[in-house]
Amino acid sequence: MSNSDSLQALKQYFGYTSFRAGQREIIEATLAGRDALAIMPTGGGKSICFQLPALLKTGITIVVSPLIALMQDQVMALKENGIGATFLNSTLGYEETRQRSQAILNGAIKLVYVAPERLFAEQFLEFLNIVKNKIGIAGFAIDEAHCVSEWGHDFRPEYRQLSRIRQLYPDVPMIGLTATATERVREDIAQQLQLKNPYIHVASFNRNNLYYEVIPKQGVEESYRNLLQQIKRSQGSGIVYCLSRKRVMEISERLREDGIAAIPYHAGLSNKDREENQTRWIRDDVQVMVATVAFGMGINKPDVRFVIHYDLPKNIEGYYQESGRAGRDGEDSHCTLFLGYGDLETIKYLIAQKVDPHTNEPLEAEQRIAQQQLRQVVDYAEGIACRRTILLRYFGEHFHGDCANCDNCLTPKPMEDWTVEAQKFLSCVARTKEKFGAGHIIDILRGSRKEKVLQHNHDQLSTHGIGKDRSLDEWRQLARSLVHQGLLTQTTDGYGILKLNDRSWEVMRNQRHVLLPIERGVEASTVADRNDVTDRPVDVDILFERLRLLRKNLADEQEVPPYVIFSNATLNQMAEQQPTTRKDFAKLSGVGEKKLEQYADDFMAIIIDHQQQYPPAEQNESNFARVKREAVTPKSKISKASTQRATLEMYENGMDIDEIARDRNLKPATVWTHLVQLVESGYAINCDRLVAPERQTVIYEALETVGGDSLRNLFDHLREEYTYDEIKIIRAIWQNEKEPL
Ligand code: ADP
Ligand code: ZN
Repeated sequence: MSNSDSLQALKQYFGYTSFRAGQREIIEATLAGRDALAIMPTGGGKSICFQLPALLKTGITIVVSPLIALMQDQVMALKENGIGATFLNSTLGYEETRQRSQAILNGAIKLVYVAPERLFAEQFLEFLNIVKNKIGIAGFAIDEAHCVSEWGHDFRPEYRQLSRIRQLYPDVPMIGLTATATERVREDIAQQLQLKNPYIHVASFNRNNLYYEVIPKQGVEESYRNLLQQIKRSQGSGIVYCLSRKRVMEISERLREDGIAAIPYHAGLSNKDREENQTRWIRDDVQVMVATVAFGMGINKPDVRFVIHYDLPKNIEGYYQESGRAGRDGEDSHCTLFLGYGDLETIKYLIAQKVDPHTNEPLEAEQRIAQQQLRQVVDYAEGIACRRTILLRYFGEHFHGDCANCDNCLTPKPMEDWTVEAQKFLSCVARTKEKFGAGHIIDILRGSRKEKVLQHNHDQLSTHGIGKDRSLDEWRQLARSLVHQGLLTQTTDGYGILKLNDRSWEVMRNQRHVLLPIERGVEASTVADRNDVTDRPVDVDILFERLRLLRKNLADEQEVPPYVIFSNATLNQMAEQQPTTRKDFAKLSGVGEKKLEQYADDFMAIIIDHQQQYPPAEQNESNFARVKREAVTPKSKISKASTQRATLEMYENGMDIDEIARDRNLKPATVWTHLVQLVESGYAINCDRLVAPERQTVIYEALETVGGDSLRNLFDHLREEYTYDEIKIIRAIWQNEKEPL
């Protein structure tokens, strides 16, 4: 099997033109009959690693998957691509099972999904033998392979039996796949599944397309407003995680009152309600799922644009997995964590409640580990280093920082010199013989007369009460920051005893300065509007919306989620390249043979209709060629600025938009975009020639009423009588007036 065969099959069945990192090697190893172990983060593209070989080999591939939802999802997506796939599990009746078994024996099926317990039912094993003799078994794929390991976070006893497969079918190649595995779990998987000299691929766990940020919680009302603002500015689906059922209900109700289509999900709802809410969210009938962490496992929705942790997560690993549900499709997505010290206390309280259910004794070891994990979350949230670097460190990955896609990298916090306070703190640690945690040290510094202070005679220390000028929170932040910066060591046994190290002494000897980040308000974040900023012309956005609507209608007709028809990435490309022939349509990423056949005409009809309203600029050059040409021309900032300036000069010389467009061989929409961007970057432009003054007044009023956050809201509010271009430029002027740059 040559490389070009698998590439060709990738395009034919899945519509993709290139492999993601690691896919090709894994597929080649599998095709060569070798065992494999694929460790890739969520969204890394694991499925194709066993699906593509399944298509290219004779016989069927058995996929072991722990969750019914996952099976259904994958089978649905495969069928959409014209691939014979089915699943067998306990939800099916006798007749349905019989029919599916028949289809398998008829050779109409390439992939069969089963739950592990099903696999080892006597009847199924017999069936499998018949399959083997009649059409052959091409391979076994074990999805969520970490479930086989007791060291993992999601051990499932029924996975343990999988070692029997090797004994029953020693010559059939097997691949294990998982998104989470420490070194130890990896070894365990290979051993438990009895993989023979497997090809192992461990991908980087870095998710480039995820933007990480932390927002301090300040008061119930203000936090909620921040949350609302975050959601409003996002286009597309999202998840809001809350700590408790009560909070889930509260927040989802409030969001609904504020006009957001939000629904709740938690373990206290009936199965029926949970399933219903999940489906509505997956199908884009509602935008936001407000949930406890009970939600998300096995959810494959690829176009989740944001995951907000409104309450603190309990540990970093969990945070990585939960936030990682955003952006599986590789498109830009937001991961926001709200840091509230009140939540911290709540979690601490919950940890303190952990008792042995039999003896009612506190589970000290567990409590300590939980506390330690919580501290790591706080460390992440308060950290001033690149968020990505901090996160990846927990997976043993060294990331060089400066990712340009997290709040700390894009807007570093301003720093203040806290050397004197640090010296007070550290000398207090020294005087108490390095036997206490931060809380006690702070009590002493702030002159507390708590029993524990008096009991140790710490009210007699020279450092007692020398830190009254700083608040409890400030001292806590200093303590965390000292540990963070390695200027103080904290024991990891869960007690968090503070110990001095060489660097602590350097601080005390005045050989080292201590800088502390100053909390910035949310408003200071310059990236608040990232999601709104696109470089593309408005007519493309309008087309995208129309294509999206068509996708939703088609999806509803077939009762599948919209992403099963086309991903957002495909839809974006479609809106930008505007193919009007089948040949061009087939070139879109995500369009394979089956989808071309089934959907090209419907979508092209919209595109053609759209082009009558917004004719593409270059008549003698196909859109596809144009986009390709633009894609290879590096768009450096300098060239962007100079093309904008050229537009500005012509505008100020009295030319109107159409004249400039013609003269510069640009689309009018692009000229508009230039002018809007110029205003946004602070140029004062007289817009009277663009928008008649009386029209400006109306837009101003609309801005005062509904605010400037959502163009869509403005457009609706103005009853669609004003174009997006008009609204955009006036909004930019209005924003400059409100907040001069
Ligand atoms: P995982 O199981 O690792 O979380 P998936 O297999 O669900 O990831 O893939 C995530 C998304 O990426 C899916 O929408 C899938 O279609 C898409 N994808 C996978 N491989 C490619 C590829 N080579 N090119 C483009 N998109 C891909
Ligand atoms: Zn960063």
